[in-house]
Amino acid sequence: MAVQFPSTASVGEVAANISPGQWAVIVDEGGRPTGAVLPVTLSGYPQDRPLTSILSELPPTVIAPAEAPVGLLASSWMIEELEPDSPVIVAYPDHLSVWSGPALHRALASLAGEAELYGDEDIDDLAKSCEYREDDSICTHREHFVARPTEMPECPNPECLSDHDFTW
Ligand SMILES: [Zn+2]
Repeated sequence: MAVQFPSTASVGEVAANISPGQWAVIVDEGGRPTGAVLPVTLSGYPQDRPLTSILSELPPTVIAPAEAPVGLLASSWMIEELEPDSPVIVAYPDHLSVWSGPALHRALASLAGEAELYGDEDIDDLAKSCEYREDDSICTHREHFVARPTEMPECPNPECLSDHDFTW
């Protein structure tokens, strides 16, 4: 079971409240899971750094209801967007778990094309960070998408860089 932390928590707070192999799921202001990170990944960061500042470094992440068919993910548009270290956050009614690594990739490879395994919930939540960069600054905005936009939305630009559209 993953442990949930608000994005305002610091790296140190996560480290103090999690065991080494356990995933920390970062939850945004709206209470929505937006990314997951292992304690070992955080060990290189200063203890007082807020999780919001590392969101831009997290890979695109699928948030899927536990009742969704795994085959749906394998055949969805999101599969093209996943990076090798992208996790899938699985939302159960009372907890979250994280699926990642070789187990995830093996399962997806073997399931591609199969429409339905079990359950009937949709998978329509990909959390992705804006890739906009300016000099040495990186936009830290993380957005949720139900589909890949044909026209990119305006980025809320939390770091106050130049105005820009969400950079895919
Ligand atoms: Zn941006």
